[in-house]
Amino acid sequence: MCDSCAFPASSSRRTFLKAGAGLALAGGLALPRPALAQPAASLSGEEALKRLMDGNARYVANAPDQRDFSARRAALSRSQHPFASIVSCADSRVAPELAFDQGAGDLFVVRVAGNFVNQDGLASLEFGAAVLRSQLILVLGHTSCGAIAAAIDVVRNNTQLPGHLPQLIDAIKPAVHAADAGKPADMLAATIAANVRLNVEKLKTSTPVLAGLVAEKKLTVAGGVYDLATGKVTLL
Ligand SMILES: [Zn+2]
Repeated sequence: MCDSCAFPASSSRRTFLKAGAGLALAGGLALPRPALAQPAASLSGEEALKRLMDGNARYVANAPDQRDFSARRAALSRSQHPFASIVSCADSRVAPELAFDQGAGDLFVVRVAGNFVNQDGLASLEFGAAVLRSQLILVLGHTSCGAIAAAIDVVRNNTQLPGHLPQLIDAIKPAVHAADAGKPADMLAATIAANVRLNVEKLKTSTPVLAGLVAEKKLTVAGGVYDLATGKVTLL
């Protein structure tokens, strides 16, 4: 894990754990707490979601908050306390900090084309929830997603894709099948929504870390879709 993730450069993980700073979780798992952690995040999952949606309304209205990047950067140089984690597509048109009008240090973001959760993404989100204590994970799909469209094409037409793309498509296929079962008029939109819902469910039920936090009401997992044309996020 990087220095910017709030572990002091001079302190190894082992030394850190030895010092008794472990964070006990449901199921007996212990994860290190950042050395410079402030008191637990004061925002509940619901409050965090409202803060995101308020920010999205400012973004849609083209009226973002003014920010002092220099002062914020200095304040964040030793630790971070993001209030929400986002699972977003890698699409260049979907930028979570812009879409929710948030600054550096506010969002813990995992991005991959098709906004699904793989093992590395899951581990990152566990870090965000259990160590950094963000109480919300939002899975954010978006309209006209090329990765989702490609997955539909592969399932329907057996299209062969180069390189490692088939791996990515495999992760999206369950959403294609789930959407197809409903015989939707708009297959792309239905698959985008199904993909968000499946990944929300995957996160909620992921043991031991995230499911444990959800059971303790210390974590909310929600899903939404970002409209490329308007910038508006609609919760599912
Ligand atoms: Zn996309």
